[in-house]
Amino acid sequence: MEFRDLKKQYQRLKPQMDDAVQSIMSCGTFIGGESVANLERRLAAYVGVRHCITCANGTDALQLALMTWGIGQGDAVFVPDFTFFASAEVIALVGATPIFVDVCEETFNMNPQCLEEAIRNVLSEGRLHPAAVIAVDLFGQPADYDRICEITKKYGLLLLEDGAQGFGGSIRGKKACSFGDISTTSFFPAKPLGCYGDGGAVFTDNDEWAAVLRSLKVHGKGSDKYDNVRIGLNSRLDALQAAVLLVKLEAFVRYELEAVNQAAALYQKDLSGHVQCPTVLEGFHSSWAQYTILLRDREQRDGLQSWLKQNDIPAIVYYRSPLHMQKAFSRCRSYCECRISTTLGERVLSLPLSPYLERDEIALITEKILSYPGHSI
Ligand SMILES: *Cc1c(COP(=O)(O)O)cnc(C)c1O
Repeated sequence: MEFRDLKKQYQRLKPQMDDAVQSIMSCGTFIGGESVANLERRLAAYVGVRHCITCANGTDALQLALMTWGIGQGDAVFVPDFTFFASAEVIALVGATPIFVDVCEETFNMNPQCLEEAIRNVLSEGRLHPAAVIAVDLFGQPADYDRICEITKKYGLLLLEDGAQGFGGSIRGKKACSFGDISTTSFFPAKPLGCYGDGGAVFTDNDEWAAVLRSLKVHGKGSDKYDNVRIGLNSRLDALQAAVLLVKLEAFVRYELEAVNQAAALYQKDLSGHVQCPTVLEGFHSSWAQYTILLRDREQRDGLQSWLKQNDIPAIVYYRSPLHMQKAFSRCRSYCECRISTTLGERVLSLPLSPYLERDEIALITEKILSYPGHSI
């Protein structure tokens, strides 16, 4: 069994996919061109924002956003303590200071109350200037933007939505990647919308920032790439990946998003009452980048993971360590207690999931979980 079945997806999309890739190879435009422009238009329309700027990966997308805002030395940027490393790595990369914020146990997303507490603590210490919040749509569910936006407005902070795992999610019909002043996503193959390599995108309604982003991603270009008006990156999505994504986006919109929600609902039905299942908030929709359950403690989690492995079922721990305990951040100090994020790493387990996971595969997985012999689940 695959953890995320990309082979089955390719088999299903093979005729259109092979045509799309062939046509790029025959036409000979590999960087930029019609497929990239077309994809950017479609992504912007799907998300419901004015501008989509593609780039090389989801990490660059975040960095480009921070560079656009001129965030750097002396700035504090608030980020959840429980997320993929890149969400906070980019803060340090531009010279600013990441401030780790605890998350909610039910949603795995940033706890707005802890965010406000951390902002107040940074303000009262007076050493750093609170500049921005990076909210993450972890495992596919949008962060609690109603409350987070209230706080960013109150304290005059910019909001960056890290939608690397959130593409396709929504809150009362408003799509993920439209909640930030700038939002980003990743097209890493295992993400909800993935390509066949690396890719990413930045979304914004702001015309001025969009122009700066288009410059920054091509060596800080002015009128062309040999006229350089600022220091930028070389961060492009190539034409082959754009062609792949055009095919995948259609499938994503037509049936994949619904199929993955059905798979998650089946897990929920069979597992709730036995293990702690993920909660999707009222009015929220998840794109289910992961289906992550919570076990009692490390012993039960590790035991279940190896029991599943013996039964040829791959289950993965996302994420083993909260960010504030990563060696790379050992010199950063904390501005709020990260009580939940600290224990999550011992309790989480993500189960196989994709739009192509079959009903009988889910039945087998849940049956194996419920028959875990270690001690009762
Ligand atoms: C995957 C991921 C990223 C980085 O995306 P890449 O395309 O791998 O650079 C950033 N943030 C989160 C939450 C992610 O899951």
